[in-house]
Amino acid sequence: MSEQRVYNFSAGPSMLPLSALERAGSEITNYRGSGMSVMEMSHRSKVFQQIFDETQEKLRRLMNIPEGYKILFLQTGATGQFSAIPLNLIGNTGKADYAITGNFSNLAYKEAAKYGKIHVAASTEDCNHSRIPAQEELELDPEASYFYYCANNTIYGTEWQYVPETGSVPLVCDMSSDILSRPVDVSKYGIIYAGAQKNMAPAGLTVVIIKEELAGHALPYTPVMMDYKPMIEKDSMYNTPPCWCIYMLGLTLDWVAEQGGLEGMQKLRDLRSGMLYDTLDQTKLFHCHAQPGSRSGMNVTFRTGNEELDAKFVAEASAAGFVNLKGHRKTGGMRASIYNAMPVEGVEKLCDFIKAFDRNN
Ligand SMILES: *Cc1c(COP(=O)(O)O)cnc(C)c1O
Repeated sequence: MSEQRVYNFSAGPSMLPLSALERAGSEITNYRGSGMSVMEMSHRSKVFQQIFDETQEKLRRLMNIPEGYKILFLQTGATGQFSAIPLNLIGNTGKADYAITGNFSNLAYKEAAKYGKIHVAASTEDCNHSRIPAQEELELDPEASYFYYCANNTIYGTEWQYVPETGSVPLVCDMSSDILSRPVDVSKYGIIYAGAQKNMAPAGLTVVIIKEELAGHALPYTPVMMDYKPMIEKDSMYNTPPCWCIYMLGLTLDWVAEQGGLEGMQKLRDLRSGMLYDTLDQTKLFHCHAQPGSRSGMNVTFRTGNEELDAKFVAEASAAGFVNLKGHRKTGGMRASIYNAMPVEGVEKLCDFIKAFDRNN
C-alpha cells in the first residue's frame, strides 16, 4: 500500500507521517484493547481522556511551552481564530496592529476591523507579498491591544525569519503552515495558533497556545465557542472536541520526537528547502517568487514566466508522482509545499525532475 503513495506537495490538507497513518490504521477498529475505535469513543471516557492528556503533554514538551500558558484543542479552523482573537483581546484598548504580508493576514485584518480600530503596522502588498518587512519597517502603536502577524505565508511562500519586537504589546501569531518545523520561544508570545491540517493532524482541529492572563476579557457578545475563558476552564471540553484529530496529533508528535524534536525538524526543513532553492536558482527556466532573505522553508513558490510551460511542468510532474504542484491563483506558477512530513527523498527526486525539465525545455 505505502509503495503506491505519491509525493504530495499540496498546500493543505497535506502529507502526514507514514508511521502515524500506519499506527492509526492498525488501531482503527480496536484502540489498544478498548474494543472500539477512537472515532467511537465518548470524549468523557477514561481512555479518551488519557489520549487527550498525553497529546497535550507531548506538545508542551516538544514546544517547551512554559507554565502560565494553556493549550486548547478547538474547531472552526485557523479562520475561526481570525474572529476569536479580536473578540477576546481587542477590548483592552479597542485597537490592534496587523502586519499584512499575505492572504491570510489580510483576511484576519478584515475580520478584526469589525471589532475595533485596526492599524496596518506593515504591508507588503506593493510587491505582491514577495518579502517580509524588517523590524525597522514596523509602525508600532504602543497602545495596541496586540500585534498580529502570520509566521509563514502559505500562498506567497515567504516566512518571517525573526520574531517581531513589540515591547509590552502581546504578540499573536498564525503558525498554521510552519508550526513544529523549528524551535519557538513560546514565552515571547501572547497567542500562537495553527490549523492542524498542514503540519499536525487531519483538518478539523485548531491548536491554540495562549498566555492564560490574556483570557477573560472577551467582548460581551463573543460566542461561547470563541471565548478562550470557558474553553480554558473546561479544558477544551465545553462540548465535544475533535477527538480523532487530537489522537492523530498525538501520533504525529510521537514521530516529531523520533526525528529529534523541533531541532531535528529544523534540520530536515533546512535540508529540504535548501536543496529546492539551490536547484531552482541554478536553472535557466525557473524563478522564485519570494525574495532571498524572506523565502519560506515550507512553501516554495516558483514559475517560468510562461503559463503554458508552467502547465506542462505541473502535468509532467504529476504523471511522475509529484502531485499538487500547481500554484495558487494569486501567484500563478508552481508551489511546492514541503511541510514537516514531506520526506527528504521526495524533495531530492523533485529536484532531479526540475533539473531534467530545465534541460529538456
Ligand atoms: C491554511 C491557512 C489558514 C486557513 O486555515 P483553515 O483551517 O482552513 O481556516 C490560515 N492561515 C494560514 C497561515 C494557513 O496556511
